[in-house]
Amino acid sequence: ENSATDPKNLRVKLVLLGDSGVGKSCIVLRFVRGQFDPTSKVTVGASFLSQTLALEDSTTVKFEIWDTAGQERYAALAPLYYRGAGAAIVVYDITSPESFNKAQYWVKELQKHGSPDMIMALVGNKADLNDNRSVSSQDAQEYAERNSMFFIETSAKTADNINQLFEEIAKRLPRPTP
Ligand code: GDP
Ligand code: MG
Repeated sequence: ENSATDPKNLRVKLVLLGDSGVGKSCIVLRFVRGQFDPTSKVTVGASFLSQTLALEDSTTVKFEIWDTAGQERYAALAPLYYRGAGAAIVVYDITSPESFNKAQYWVKELQKHGSPDMIMALVGNKADLNDNRSVSSQDAQEYAERNSMFFIETSAKTADNINQLFEEIAKRLPRPTP
């Protein structure tokens, strides 16, 4: 059966956006490979990985993940990645207010140019660095609510909330009628 219409085996294109250095690639590697590599390389352009998640209701969701580079010179390419995306993860670093501002820029971009039914997650990463926090959970939560996104804080380093992030997206995906 065609996976686009099979209600038991969903598939979704997912794009990660956010400032360089916030941990987008580490989040993807933690989810796909269960690893954290502190010496991982900067993403150039974009990279693609896929991972299938099994849900409790015996459906599976195949995430086709586009991990983009945060560098300004690639910003013009971003629409290529979020075109046709059913879900977007906008990441900031909880220790960096600049990265939270940049996340808001990406949210506006997605609202302007993305598909209107795109599922959007706001992710405060590096939650393990709570001692150096400079973006409050409450501010981020309120921003997310105003923009119809769901909010979660993660740590790619400790794996905290990484699976939950993808499970929450999976739960929100529209189910095709059989
Ligand atoms: P990207 O540019 O958004 O893809 O960021 P990377 O995934 O390349 O990560 C940038 C830096 O942040 C690297 O040095 C990572 O080791 C570090 N990093 C990523 N996630 C975490 C995290 O959850 N906690 C901590 N402490 N460091 C992280
Ligand atoms: Mg990267």
